Parts: sequence; structure tokens; C-alpha cells
Amino acid sequence: MDLDLLERTLTELGEPAYRLRQVWQWTAAGADSYQEMTNLPQALRGALTAAVPFSTLTVQSEARAADGTVKVLMRTADGRPLEAVLMRYRDGRHSLCLSSQSGCPLTCTFCATGQMRFGRNLSAWEILDQALYFRRLTPVDHCVFMGMGEPLMNLDAVLAACQRLPDLGISSRHTAISTVGWIPGIDRLAAQPLPLRLALSLHAASAELRSTLMPVNDRYPLPDVLAACERFYARKRRRVFVEYVMLAGVNDSVGQARELAAILDPTIFKVNLIPYNPTGTGLQGSAPGAIAAFAAELERLGLSATVRLTRGREIAAACGQLAAGAVAA
Ligand code: SAH
Repeated sequence: MDLDLLERTLTELGEPAYRLRQVWQWTAAGADSYQEMTNLPQALRGALTAAVPFSTLTVQSEARAADGTVKVLMRTADGRPLEAVLMRYRDGRHSLCLSSQSGCPLTCTFCATGQMRFGRNLSAWEILDQALYFRRLTPVDHCVFMGMGEPLMNLDAVLAACQRLPDLGISSRHTAISTVGWIPGIDRLAAQPLPLRLALSLHAASAELRSTLMPVNDRYPLPDVLAACERFYARKRRRVFVEYVMLAGVNDSVGQARELAAILDPTIFKVNLIPYNPTGTGLQGSAPGAIAAFAAELERLGLSATVRLTRGREIAAACGQLAAGAVAA
């Protein structure tokens, strides 16, 4: 819902200021349409239905996995594709994975989004409408910006959306922004007041390998990125999650675990190892034994390391696969 358009429309209709708040309260609580908003006059509900689209996005397709994961492919009003995912965990968490851009200008070699054409930044309302779609299905409490795009290249819109996520039930402490290491964005995130979490996609400790996997490493080299994360920690006192996607024979040896441990301060960083979802790039995911050995070596060297639970595999809902459906569509 474009709340700027809503506000202008309410003003033009001569409505009192509190109407905006009323409409947003219903919407954030998961209402399906203006018609449900029983404290608005019937005529106003009709006028809003005609003038302000209930969502800025239209759903093109939806896939549901046996584990409760729901993935939607959506289009913006100008036809740009994007995807968003709801993950239900056994501990009761309902976590959303949101996109910040349609496509992505960075070209990480292992990532499906990196292989598609960049469209544009999404607006705050387009980001929020992904979350609202799922809020209409179920209560939600966690959110990660790990869908399409680089959130720190679209930080104004991401922050504007994050300001409103608590109204849907997702606190800033339960919201994580994931980045390739876009340094100006990390510093801006540290300087703004919301207690958002930072996650860094690291993937290789050596400069040469990291630049091969993530060309952005030439622009923002890892040592500078880690220094920015340390500034973030100094300011926010929130530990930074390191994401490390496990690629067979590429970055998954025990020696590479040692290289990783050597550059990370365990008081600041926690490592999350990500089983790779093959996306037709030629790269293969590491075997479970290799992931376990890598994690054990990190733990031995004093770092906290977890292995990400895989959700929604059969509907290609996992990270980095989100673009596949959109390209085919
Ligand atoms: N641009 C941001 C956010 C989007 S990607 C970033 O790079 O952090 C979210 C995470 O999914 C990143 O850690 C990314 O490396 C990972 N990812 C990408 N493709 C993947 C794949 N095919 N399998 C597993 N993880 C993948």
C-alpha cells in the first residue's frame, strides 16, 4: 500500500488526519481489503478501493512446500519481478525473507539473482507489501533482507520499510540486513537509530577467491569491510552474522576454515554456514561431512558457528534461488 498516495487521497477527500492511522492499523494487522475496515464510513471504503490499490504488488504465482514454506513471485505495477518467502520453523518462528531490489547489480557468480538483469530499486511500499502479503496469511515475527538485491544499495527505502515492520509484529531486533559488504551502507546503518541486525556475506577469506566469487570485493576489499563491521559493533553492540555459503572444493576445506577464523574476532562475529542450493551455475554444494568439519574447526578456534536450516528446497525457495522462477516466468 502506497501510504504517500493514501495520505494525499485522504487529504483530497477532506478526511481527518486520523483516518491514515486507522487504515494503516487495519492493514498492518492483516486486513484483506478496505471493506474490512469497519470504523471507516462505507463511502470512504469504496473511494479508497477505487483510488489507492490495496497493494503495490500483484501476485503472479505462489508455491507451498511440505515444511510450511511459502514462496511468492510478485510483480511491481511496472512489471518488475521479485520474490519473497515465508519460513515456518519448528520452534514457532515465522520468518520472512524480503527482496530490496528487482534483480541485483552485483554479479556474485554462485547466485541466481546475480545472473539476471538488474531492474531497479524497490520502493519502501513495495518492500512492505511483500511483508503484508504474508501477514494476511499468518502472524509473523522475524525478517531477513536476503531475497533479491543488495539492501544497502537501497537503504533509504529499506529503512523506511523497517520503521513500519514493528506494526506487523516484526521488531527491529528481529530484522537482519544482509550485505555483500557495501561499506557506505554499513556505516549508515550503524549511524541510524533502529537496533537492526547486520549480516555479512563473506564466503571466502582470501582476497583472490573472494573476488572471483564476489566481484564487489575489488571495490570494497574484505579487510575494509571487516573494519566497517567492527565500527558497526562498536556503535550498536550487536554481533554481526557472517554468512558463508559452502561450495564443494572451492571454499570448504579445513584450511580455509582456519583462514576464516584468523580474520574474525569471536566477540564480534558469529558464523552461519549456508548449504549451497545449486542454481545451474556449475557450482556444487559441500557434502554434509565437509560442512560439519568446517564448523568444528571454527568452533575449535573459538568462533561460534551454526549451519543454516534448509527450508522450502523442493519449491526452490532457498536463498539465491529466488530469481530462477522470475526469469522463467
Ligand atoms: N545482497 C545481499 C542479500 C541477498 S543474498 C547479500 O549478498 O548478502 C542473501 C544470502 O544468500 C547471501 O549470503 C548469499 O550469498 C546467499 N546465497 C546466494 N545464492 C545462494 C545459493 N544458491 N545457495 C545458498 N545461498 C545463497
